[in-house]
Amino acid sequence: MLRTHTNGELRIEHAGTEVTLCGWVQRSRDKGGMIWVDLRDRYGVTQLMLEEGKSSAEALALARGLGREFVVEAKGVVVERLSKNDKMPTGDIEIKVKELRVLNPAKLPPFLIEDETDGGDDIRMKYRYLDLRRNPIRESLQLRHHVGREVRNYLDKQDFIEVETPVLIKSTPEGARDFVVPSRMNPGEFYALPQSPQTFKQLLMVSGFDRYYQIVKCFRDEDLRADRQPEFTQIDCEMSFVEQEDILNMFEGLIRHLFQNVKGLDIGQVPRMTYADAMKYYGSDKPDIRFDMKFVELKGEGVDLTSGKDFQVFDAANTVVGICVKGAAEYTRKQIDELTDFVRRPQIGAKGLIYARVQADGVVKSSVDKFYSEADLATWAAAFNAEPGDLILVLSGDGDKVRKQLNELRLDMGTRMGLRDPNNYTVHWVVDFPLLEYGEEEDRWFAMHHPFTSPKPEDIPLMLAGEFGKVRANAYDLVVNGVEVGGGSIRIFQKDLQSKMFEVLGFTPEEAQAQFGFLLDAFEYGAPPHGGLAFGFDRLCSLFGGTDSIRDYIAFPKNNAGRDVMIDSPSPLAQAQLDELKIKTTV
Ligand code: ASP
Repeated sequence: MLRTHTNGELRIEHAGTEVTLCGWVQRSRDKGGMIWVDLRDRYGVTQLMLEEGKSSAEALALARGLGREFVVEAKGVVVERLSKNDKMPTGDIEIKVKELRVLNPAKLPPFLIEDETDGGDDIRMKYRYLDLRRNPIRESLQLRHHVGREVRNYLDKQDFIEVETPVLIKSTPEGARDFVVPSRMNPGEFYALPQSPQTFKQLLMVSGFDRYYQIVKCFRDEDLRADRQPEFTQIDCEMSFVEQEDILNMFEGLIRHLFQNVKGLDIGQVPRMTYADAMKYYGSDKPDIRFDMKFVELKGEGVDLTSGKDFQVFDAANTVVGICVKGAAEYTRKQIDELTDFVRRPQIGAKGLIYARVQADGVVKSSVDKFYSEADLATWAAAFNAEPGDLILVLSGDGDKVRKQLNELRLDMGTRMGLRDPNNYTVHWVVDFPLLEYGEEEDRWFAMHHPFTSPKPEDIPLMLAGEFGKVRANAYDLVVNGVEVGGGSIRIFQKDLQSKMFEVLGFTPEEAQAQFGFLLDAFEYGAPPHGGLAFGFDRLCSLFGGTDSIRDYIAFPKNNAGRDVMIDSPSPLAQAQLDELKIKTTV
């Protein structure tokens, strides 16, 4: 190695040692007779010192010519610093440089390579290799490495084996669009990139690999948000001879292991909530339960505290539902207007917002005082268990639609009230998802998870009777701080039931055979009962890191338009390439 030590390594006990360090110039200060240079590498920063009369004239001249990010090698002796810096691990020492060598000069970087940079997103992505020199991003990738190692440690101890599955495959329906790759050898035909290795891991179960995992790239062509990337990584797992309970226990164990070993946190038992309760109390299948604010219905199944008072809006709605925000009765008119604007945004779509405050004297004042007496409002407050100082916010409308709107308001209020601390973790399962959901536009049923998910055995008669909306699945999601970090299911392993499922999803027997014949065939050769799940690895890392964006945890991510602006991809193909692939483009 060119160096004897890293830049994060030297301490006072090394004083007097001859060392050679290599790294990048973080900054240099020329105070006339003395020059200081901060030398950085992955491990830290060490201060170099050159002194007129003591360092060679050549070294001094070189030091004076150093710019940010020059790559240098410095030879010298470790000495105790006169003015120590207790913010730096190496802050007690500096290197009295004897020889300096510039290994490579550098152009001035387009943004500051510091923890707080002046570079915007685009420029940082274009020069991602420079961005990766910054501590926060480097630390994110180190965290990712740590999480991956702990995943492997845990699963290895549990006898899982990692098996790679192909990337050039055929469509796997996970609910997104496929990325496709043309086949030169089979003109006019295309591979699909896996949205997940779902069918392959099931085939591995048929093969007898009863505990499989893979940290694997998946590809989904969908519109991007901060927490989505067209290519992302899953911790993909499958087990044979299991029931839902076994899967939940095994992977609760994995999550507990990760929290313990990555964050030093004991998360204890992982509670479970049914999908039905999640929707009823939080209007979301991934509720953020770091804070309470559970939904309370003023009008719904078995309750009606609003009808018959001439308030048309509530009378016309089948559901009137609200949340109680502790200690928010002080909200001003302006703040309430902001909330009203918020729920009226087209993405949310509520018509309006009704509020009621519980005053210090216990009297409830509301925006609908005209219709509801003090006594009526007192019954509302009682339903919410509201106390003086609380603010009740109410939406009305149509069942699940209004619950989803209220979910947005609840999350917003949670944020406003400072109840969503990223370093306070809640982990829970949501179980008993519906097997199928109805697509109004397409006028057909869709698999809520994917077509290989099994109905609960006790609900199979409902499925056979055509009551598709009532069938529950043996499917589960793991939710951390309101983010779905994983999900899976117990699978169908009988050919007949799988064929029935394809039929419900609108496949003709021929289509099912053409697309999934390999799986249906495999089920005839001794398929064991099996099930599994997959965790979003990038997302899990971002949660451990306490940030929303998964991009920081991916070395070379894509932007919101699906572009890699550094390598400038996607890009057009040369005509010769297109000809070879027998492809004509229409743009
Ligand atoms: N393949 C599923 C997914 O990507 C996970 C699973 O069912 O194991 O969401």
